[in-house]
Amino acid sequence: MIEKNNKMEKIVSLCKRRGFVFQGSEIYGGLAGTWDYGPYGVALKNNVKNLWFKMFVEDREDMYGMDAAIIMNSKAWEASGHISGFSDPLIDCKKCGHRFRVDQIENKEKCPDCGGKLGEERQFNMMFKTFVGATEDESAVSYLRPETAGGMFVNFKNILDSLHPKLPFGLGQIGKAFRNEIAPRDFVFRSREFEQMEVEYFVKPECWEESFNEWKKVMLDWCEAIGLQKSHIHELEVLDGERAHYSKRTIDFEFDYSFGRKELYGLAYRTDFDLKSHSAKSGLDLSYYDEETKERFIPHVIEPSLGVDRTILAVLLEAYTEDDLGGETRAYLKLSPKLAPVKVAVFPLLKNKPELVEKAREIYEILKKEFKCEFDDNGNIGKRYRRQDEIGTPFCVTVDFDTLEKKEGMTVRDRDTGKQERVPEEDLISFLKEKLS
Ligand code: ATP
Repeated sequence: MIEKNNKMEKIVSLCKRRGFVFQGSEIYGGLAGTWDYGPYGVALKNNVKNLWFKMFVEDREDMYGMDAAIIMNSKAWEASGHISGFSDPLIDCKKCGHRFRVDQIENKEKCPDCGGKLGEERQFNMMFKTFVGATEDESAVSYLRPETAGGMFVNFKNILDSLHPKLPFGLGQIGKAFRNEIAPRDFVFRSREFEQMEVEYFVKPECWEESFNEWKKVMLDWCEAIGLQKSHIHELEVLDGERAHYSKRTIDFEFDYSFGRKELYGLAYRTDFDLKSHSAKSGLDLSYYDEETKERFIPHVIEPSLGVDRTILAVLLEAYTEDDLGGETRAYLKLSPKLAPVKVAVFPLLKNKPELVEKAREIYEILKKEFKCEFDDNGNIGKRYRRQDEIGTPFCVTVDFDTLEKKEGMTVRDRDTGKQERVPEEDLISFLKEKLS
């Protein structure tokens, strides 16, 4: 059993050492709340995003993909209520000057850091402000989106006019969101720049509950598909007064992170709030005409909202494993093959035997047409296995002397058991395909 705090430290260190995630602007001392994904981090993230897009959009007839602009006309943020309402309550310590989110501290009188007296509570808007164009005056002010949702609502009419979908239908989009979090923390869990995978699902008002329950199920299936244990996911009904300004019902899906049970995803019933507000602000009719009932109305919205980075962290925490292999403690990522950045690594047993290197390269060239592969002839074989274990590669194929001399095929090593079996060259692809599926 790995101690919880320790596990987080180990993951942060593995992510840096193996090229998954680096601190943002690290050579300049960093920039709080920003993280840079390196080669394996990008691969893991892309696997997560592609799987989400397939499951939430492509595999469904009632869903359409979107990729809207990050910067929007600031009228959109007035309409959505983000300019007036997207804020967190903030409190400063009068003594040490440290800043806290009021809902994250227990004693509202005393500073959790120095014990000093805390000042007055005030609201802090979390949107990043910027200027569009060459003049820096009020008319040029815009914001980086704090959620991807807005880009979908403002395109509702475009989708109706171009694709003529019937209710219920939804839009799905993956993209960056920005929040000037008061206290970014816990690695990529709470950052100021992050990615979301969001669905806005439009329904007849009377059907909202049915859709809400359906999407809840999809979200739970998703958690299972990415390898999160059921016992680590908890549904929390968010109470009146604690929900976002647009929501009439919200369920938070919480995950048992090593630093506590915290929100992983949210599922919200946004009512007709957004379409109604954008209709009023833009002057454009964003209603829907039902051909069957001959009724015109503003659809209601169900929103499953999933953070990419919180997914990555949950997946890493779930996958990080230590065991005893050959008398040594080893660490490995027990990632589902779907998510693993590299599926198969190919090695020559020894790097200074050209005939082994040549054959291993030949095998690599064949396998890479089928799987995401990596060729490695650096250092000794033990080190190469250890590296692949740490990046979560399910299988390592090694070319040795028996491959060449006895034509006995190559060894295939299983990441989780460390066991090797010899597989004839002609069976290699089908063997790996079966194991990886
Ligand atoms: P929290 O209460 O933790 O601040 P939230 O309720 O404000 O989160 P939502 O507005 O519901 O979050 O955003 C939807 C999803 O986006 C979250 O469930 C989470 O996965 C992700 N998310 C939100 N804020 C951040 C952040 N600062 N860093 C990383 N992911 C985030």
